[in-house]
Amino acid sequence: MVMQDLNGKTALVTGASSGLGLHFAEVLAHHGASVVLAARQINAIDEAAQRIISTGGKAEALPLDVTDSVSLDHAFAAMGSRLDIVVNNAGISLPSSAIDMSEADFSRVIDTNLTGVFSVAQRAARAMRAGAKGGSIINVASILGFRVAGHVAAYAASKAAVVQLTKALALEWARYGIRVNALCPGYIETPINRDFFTTDQGRALINRIPQRRLGTPADLDAPLLLLCSDASSYMTGSSLVVDGGHLVSSL
Ligand code: NAD
Repeated sequence: MVMQDLNGKTALVTGASSGLGLHFAEVLAHHGASVVLAARQINAIDEAAQRIISTGGKAEALPLDVTDSVSLDHAFAAMGSRLDIVVNNAGISLPSSAIDMSEADFSRVIDTNLTGVFSVAQRAARAMRAGAKGGSIINVASILGFRVAGHVAAYAASKAAVVQLTKALALEWARYGIRVNALCPGYIETPINRDFFTTDQGRALINRIPQRRLGTPADLDAPLLLLCSDASSYMTGSSLVVDGGHLVSSL
């Protein structure tokens, strides 16, 4: 069997209150994982967990702010050593021209997208090492970790750092049976960016994607399941790009 099911595995998804994180949580639950939906908006993740349970899945909601060490400590204390899979998805972008961006906003992006990913991964790795059964950590980066666009300097820098952090953690944690890989989506249509892609600027962007379409959250399902499951047992430190060819668009 190429794609193993996730029955018996516990998966933490950060930023699971909306967008891709919510979708990832639903996909993992659908494939048998017991899913911990973590985010700051407890009502949203409570409702999502109830929806998953009502369709036969296993889910729970966990309050978590990935930039707050007290919140992180509480969340990981609550989970103990049962974690097998972590999807480090929480992220923000705060678009701004680099010349006008405030240092405070630059720091917020780095704190959430880079330090938050490290803080979650480190606590997860400690729990996985304590449980002595290894695990899989998936850091959600972006094609902006490899190329640049206007008005996203902090975001692009944070995602490039996540790609490099992924390799460094993979190197150090292979000895504990912990695999660390990055999932690097191109432009995926979600409720928060849908309106932009109906504008002239948005349509021009779609025309620069070799496949001439946006990705859908479902386009990430098989790559996500690959990285989460034992089907990728010999993959660690890799960055899996899912972008309709955007990174190889002609210069
Ligand atoms: P989104 O804004 O819908 O989701 C981001 C989630 O992260 C939200 O649930 C938000 O509440 C949560 N979050 C933000 N700060 C947090 C914090 N401090 N603690 C806990 N949770 C926090 O956006 P999305 O498009 O679903 O993005 C999800 C991830 O995918 C991000 O890392 C983003 O950079 C990445 N990504 C998205 C796309 C895309 O086209 N949508 C492309 C490439 C990468």
